[in-house]
Amino acid sequence: MNIILLGPPGAGKGTQAQKLVEDRNMVQLSTGDMLRAARTSGTEMGKKVAAVMDAGNLVTDEIVIGLIREQLEAGGDHGGFIFDGFPRTLPQADALGELLKEMGHTLDYAIELEVNDDILVERIIGRAAEAVASGGTARADDNEESLKTRLMAYYKQTSPLIGYYYAKGDLRGVNGLSAVDDVAAEIAALLDA
Ligand code: AMP
Repeated sequence: MNIILLGPPGAGKGTQAQKLVEDRNMVQLSTGDMLRAARTSGTEMGKKVAAVMDAGNLVTDEIVIGLIREQLEAGGDHGGFIFDGFPRTLPQADALGELLKEMGHTLDYAIELEVNDDILVERIIGRAAEAVASGGTARADDNEESLKTRLMAYYKQTSPLIGYYYAKGDLRGVNGLSAVDDVAAEIAALLDA
């Protein structure tokens, strides 16, 4: 099973991906996590993307497609890939299709976590507040200004993927506003169908 989790920032893609990793031995491929790791380890690429990420804009297709290619080529024995936060543009979606085909894999579903924008904004601002309250630091892009940019990037660049995967017959929707375990159960039902 290979699936994409689609949805705006704060929809719960990362949370659901982690559950699938625990429950089904799937591998989470989060380009956001990979980019943050590149920044922490101070690679040239990490330095290049830092300002773009903090502002809430998308990094280039070339960079993220390269990251995904590396991970797919690493192979291994597991229950399939969860693409989390990738693809985010139509060229990325085409590239993913090509990469999977090259490697003899198929995409099973693009699962859209359906949410409400007002609740999203509250969730993200809450996520930042919680991180600070528990003694950590909030993600640099979890502030109101870059959140606006991230939401706009989602609607301008990523939301067309919903139509793209619908037309391919791969799109499925789940209610992303339910409790975490209920969303997980809805996704599990899809995967077991
Ligand atoms: P995320 O953790 O998925 O919210 O990603 C954090 C940030 O990393 C995004 O706001 C973008 O700046 C960058 N990013 C992550 N994934 C992608 C992608 N597929 N394409 C372009 N930029 C990305």
